[in-house]
Amino acid sequence: MTEIRDQLFIANGWTPARNGRTFEVIDPSTEEVLATVARGGQEDVDDAVAAARAAFDGPWRRVTPQERGRLLYRLARELEARIEDFAELETLDTGKPLSHARGEISGCVSYLDYYAGAADKIHGESIPLGPGYLNYTVLEPLGVTAHIVPWNMPLSMVCRSLAPALAAGNTAVVKPAEQTPLTALKFAELFLELGFPAGVYNVVTGFGEEAGKVLSEHPDIGSITFTGSVETGRSILHAAAEHVKPVVLELGGKSPQIIFSDTDLDLAAAEISKGIYSNTGQYCDAGSRLVVEEGVKEPLLEKVLDHSHRITLGKGMDDPDMGPLVSAEHLERVLGYIASGEQEGATMLTGGLSGEFERGYFVSPTVFDGVESKMRIAREEIFGPVLSVLPFSDEDEAARIANDSSYGLAAGIFTRDIDRALRFAAEIQAGYIMINEYFTGGMGSPFGGYKQSGIGREKGLVALENYTQIKNVVARVR
Ligand code: NAD
Repeated sequence: MTEIRDQLFIANGWTPARNGRTFEVIDPSTEEVLATVARGGQEDVDDAVAAARAAFDGPWRRVTPQERGRLLYRLARELEARIEDFAELETLDTGKPLSHARGEISGCVSYLDYYAGAADKIHGESIPLGPGYLNYTVLEPLGVTAHIVPWNMPLSMVCRSLAPALAAGNTAVVKPAEQTPLTALKFAELFLELGFPAGVYNVVTGFGEEAGKVLSEHPDIGSITFTGSVETGRSILHAAAEHVKPVVLELGGKSPQIIFSDTDLDLAAAEISKGIYSNTGQYCDAGSRLVVEEGVKEPLLEKVLDHSHRITLGKGMDDPDMGPLVSAEHLERVLGYIASGEQEGATMLTGGLSGEFERGYFVSPTVFDGVESKMRIAREEIFGPVLSVLPFSDEDEAARIANDSSYGLAAGIFTRDIDRALRFAAEIQAGYIMINEYFTGGMGSPFGGYKQSGIGREKGLVALENYTQIKNVVARVR
C-alpha cells in the first residue's frame, strides 16, 4: 500500500494545521478510518496563498513557457508511472471500482499532457491601427488560482483546472473535498521530486465552511475555480463579488438521455446503463433522466433492467461494476430521494438500499417508471444510481421534457437519423451534447453548463482563457 500523506502541503513542505486540528477520512466500502488528516483553517489558507504568491512573483515567473510545458510533461510521466498507486488510493478514498480509478488517473495524465503542449502557445495578437502605431495584446496569468474541488472524481477534478492554470503561468492553492483529500496530497510528492519551485502547488485540506470559504474570500487570489453543488456555487459567487474575482463554476446536472424509436435498443440500453450507473451515479453529467419515445419504452426498459440486474456491487478494491456511495451522509440523501419518488407516486422497478453488505454505503442500481417532470426525482440532482423514466410521443415533447430543468449540463441523443440528431442537438439547452455514445469526447472538448449548471468552460484550449487576462499595449511610433 502506498504511503498516505495526511498533512497540508505548503511551500513544498508538509505541515500540520496551525491550530493542530485534524479530521478522519472514512473508507466508504468498509466504514473504517483510512486516515486522520490536517483540518486547515484561516491561518493555513493565508500561508498557502502567501506561498503561492511568492512563487508567482518570484521563481515561477522566471520559468519560460517552454520550460513550464516540459515540467508539466514530466509531471504527466511521473503520474503515469504511478497510476496503480494513485488509483488504489483513489479507490480506498471514494469507493469507486479500481479499474475506474485507473481510468480517472490516466485522464489526469491526459490533462497534464494536453496543457503541457499548450504552455508555449498562449499568445496574443497584433491589431492594425495604421502607420505610426503598434497595437498588441499579451495574455498574462492571473496570479494565485484557487481550486475548490468535490469528492466524486478527486484528482481528476484537480488536474482538469490545475493543468491549464499552471500551463498559463499561474500558481495554485487546492482545497480538496473533506471526504476525499488523499490523492491531491499525494500528488504533491511529484512536485517535490521534480523540483517545481516552492509554492507553485499547495494543498489545504479541511472543511468547506472553514478552509474552502476562507480560500474563496481571500483577497490575494486571482481567480476561483469551483466544482461542486449549486448551493455552494452561489456562496462562491458572493465571495468572488466581494473582491471582484473571476470565477469558473462547474455545478450539478440532471442530464437527459433521449432515445428515439429508430435507435439500436441494445446499444441504447448499454449506454443508458453506463450513463447512470458509472461511478455509482456520482457524476455531474450522469444521464439521470431517460426520456424515451413511447413506442419503444417497454422493450428498452426490459433491456435496461437486465443491465441493472447484472451489475455487480462491491468494495472498490474488488473491482466490481459499481462501488458504494461516498459517505453515510450521501447514502441518507440518496435514500431520501428514493423514498420521495415512491411517495410522489412513481414506481420503483428495481433498486433501493442493497441488503448484500453489513458495512459500506451501498445502493443498488435503481429505476423509477411513471415519473413526471414535476417530481423531485425528475428535477433535483440525486447524485446516485437512480434513473427516472419519462416517456414522450413526438420530437417537440421530447425537447420540452429534456429542457424542463433548472440544470443544463449535458444530454445524450440516440437515433439512427443523423438529421434528427443534429436538429435536436440545436434544441437542447445544455453545454455538452453526446450523440449515440454517452460520456464521449476528449480533453479538447469544452465542458460546462447552461442555466444553473455553471459559468464558464473547462477542458479544451478555451479553458486557458479562465487562467489568463488580456493586456493591450498601444504604442505611438514616431
Ligand atoms: P459541495 O458543493 O458540497 O463541495 C464541493 C467543494 O466545496 C468541497 O471541497 C467543499 O469542501 C467545498 N465547500 C463547501 N462549502 C463551501 C463554502 N461555503 N465555501 C467554499 N467551499 C466550500 O459539492 P460536493 O457534494 O462535494 O460535490 C457534488 C457536486 O459537484 C454535485 O452537484 C456535482 O454535480 C458537482 N460536480 C460538478 C462537476 C462539473 O464539472 N460540472 C464535476 C464534478 C462534480
